[in-house]
Amino acid sequence: PVVTRFAPSPTGYLHIGGARTALFNWLYARGRGGKFLLRIEDTDRARSTPDATSAILQGMKWLGLDHDGEIVSQFENAPRHAAVAHELLANGKAYKCFATQEEITAFRDAAKSEGRSTLYRSPWRDAESASHPDAPYVVRIKAPLEGETKIRDQVQGDVTIRNDQLDDMVLLRSDGTPVYMLAVVVDDHDMAVTHVVRGDDHLNNAARQMMIYDAMGWDVPVWAHIPLIHGADGKKLSKRHGALGAQEYQVMGYPAAGMRNYLARLGWSHGDDEFFSDAQAQDWFDLDGIRRSPAQFDLKKLENICGQHIAVADDAALRQECESYLDAAGLPALTKDQAEGFQRALYCLKERAKTLPELLEKAHFVLTSRPIYVDEKATKNLDEDARNMLAELTPHLQNVSWDKETLETVLNGFAEAQGTKFGKLAGPLRAALAGRAVTPSVFDMMLVLGQDETLARLKDAAA
Ligand code: GLU
Repeated sequence: PVVTRFAPSPTGYLHIGGARTALFNWLYARGRGGKFLLRIEDTDRARSTPDATSAILQGMKWLGLDHDGEIVSQFENAPRHAAVAHELLANGKAYKCFATQEEITAFRDAAKSEGRSTLYRSPWRDAESASHPDAPYVVRIKAPLEGETKIRDQVQGDVTIRNDQLDDMVLLRSDGTPVYMLAVVVDDHDMAVTHVVRGDDHLNNAARQMMIYDAMGWDVPVWAHIPLIHGADGKKLSKRHGALGAQEYQVMGYPAAGMRNYLARLGWSHGDDEFFSDAQAQDWFDLDGIRRSPAQFDLKKLENICGQHIAVADDAALRQECESYLDAAGLPALTKDQAEGFQRALYCLKERAKTLPELLEKAHFVLTSRPIYVDEKATKNLDEDARNMLAELTPHLQNVSWDKETLETVLNGFAEAQGTKFGKLAGPLRAALAGRAVTPSVFDMMLVLGQDETLARLKDAAA
């Protein structure tokens, strides 16, 4: 069975690259009936914070990237990591190195001045360490000295590293704490991770991590090191490009489904498919489809895809998502009446909105309440003639059935009787119903508001 994991370091928010890494792992596992695990790599005690962990969790929750099982804390596994180092020590795959920092520095300085490789070679590798029982030591792995290490990467292809370029890396520091590289391997093994999908900034680590797998005789997972995300100018994504935390996209009002769709396309493709559902993405996602070149973040594309997701979204779900958006953005929540009206209005708003705030903006007519505030532009459409016209119209809208066909007949008939066109009525009606000059269609507003509210607003405006 497939087991993937997302292993963020809790040193900041969930950035876009991390969100995409999590998404790829989630898609891969979900599409194969596998498990998607979450491990917080909190071994760097100085830089890891609980706030960062909760920001990452919130970001994943917003994106709907649910994980299986308990969240693993890497730091809490430190005793297990140390035990593995001792196991390697016991079976001769690692050794105690008593070299002092000064000795190591002297080795490097000499190597440099003699033009040799500065890769540290400890004299303790083949020495008897029992003669130094009381001195502090680190535990180093015995790196292979000859041959080469091949990383079979699903994205990068085969990457070969000459073993004489690998040093006897430290597994346990002199205070007995395990190093990060050891922790990752032990955790991935213990969590039975089958596929490691992560940023290609970790590709170099893979060679060193393989030494530990080999020394322990453990199966090496399938690797897939994915290229970074770049800005539209081809440079590494930075704040300048709007490289914000995933949650800042929530605050900007992009729907999670659109974000997932867009992020999935960022570095992975399935033919020419741009717009797809989660089910399709899970079905289609594979490591073969991941491109080797960096993906470029493109806000226009994100908006386009988000617009398509909004257009097909279920109304109740969309209302809920807008409510979460308001909460995340620190904006006032909808009242129960507003929420109900908003949901009723969604059918006529979804078609052309790219973001959730755009939807809410279009829904202004149903979110606002009497007395309607009429803005400057709309006020121009409510001159005396217009008000008289509205006063005359109002009785025609009483005692009629409240459906689109009837309303069209009544309004067109009224316009004709006035010797004008419906277009002439629209401005005053928009001003009366919404207080604005640009609104959804007059008929849709009337239907959403209902007969009583429509008549009340028309009477207010005519007065
Ligand atoms: N904690 C690492 C990071 O946040 C990920 C390590 C891994 O996926 O193996 O970059």
